[in-house]
Amino acid sequence: MPRYDFRCRSCGATFELRRPMAQANDPAVCPQGHPDAVKLLSTVAVTGAAGGAPQQAPGGGGGCCGGGCCG
Ligand SMILES: [Zn+2]
Repeated sequence: MPRYDFRCRSCGATFELRRPMAQANDPAVCPQGHPDAVKLLSTVAVTGAAGGAPQQAPGGGGGCCGGGCCG
């Protein structure tokens, strides 16, 4: 499960939450109980990998479907 960093705008505390990606943007409550936390940029984000492999999904649209071979 991905981990997200939040920062409370009331007390300035930063904390982490693990939650499903579908709830990544849900409101978060700081450990002190303040309901005014904002999500920080994910630390998992790519940070300039040298060379960087292209992130192309394998498969997907090989031209099979639509040609009548899989219907
Ligand atoms: Zn707080």
